[in-house]
Amino acid sequence: MRELTPTVFALEKTAGANGYLVAGEDCSVLIDPGLASGARSSLAELAGARRLVPPVTDVVLTHYDPDHSGAAPAVQEALGVRVWLGREDVPILRGETEPPTRARRFLKLINPMHPPVALSEIVEPTEIIPGLSVLPAPGHTPGHVIVSWRGVVFVGDAAMMRRGRLVQLPAPLISDRDAALATTDLIASLRPRLVCPGHGRPDRLSLSD
Ligand SMILES: [Zn+2]
Repeated sequence: MRELTPTVFALEKTAGANGYLVAGEDCSVLIDPGLASGARSSLAELAGARRLVPPVTDVVLTHYDPDHSGAAPAVQEALGVRVWLGREDVPILRGETEPPTRARRFLKLINPMHPPVALSEIVEPTEIIPGLSVLPAPGHTPGHVIVSWRGVVFVGDAAMMRRGRLVQLPAPLISDRDAALATTDLIASLRPRLVCPGHGRPDRLSLSD
């Protein structure tokens, strides 16, 4: 894994979306374990991280898409972690509710979902370990969340970074455009010194405008 700050690491063995590890005082949090097909290599990387960071106790899924959430069942089974997901995404990941747009219903057909056995729901801003907050950030999906930790914001697919600016994902991947724009404003209002997206490289946010 690659050190981004003294307490934030980018995982290098996950498949699909970027995975990140946050080291707290006596426990660590994994953000987006990635595709199910990468679960084994992700777990090997986490095992190697044990000498550098406290044990992983919590996994945050920024949203239900399989490239972010697919490895969660394997990680939960191996490590006994709590897995957090925004409330509106829980029934979609469990297959109880259809995804909200046609493009997303099609994606689900070609990418079956793998829900973890147990999910903890994020309903409102929640501090899951001291100093690490999970905030509802809908738009890309109804239950999308972002994570804030010591000036670093993990935005999942709520936005991408381009030359120091937050930009929207392609329109067919957005469930609610107005909500997505409000979420981008929320991210900027946190004035992060580093933005860690689900896809693409982490980058500093230009705050000049
Ligand atoms: Zn996504």
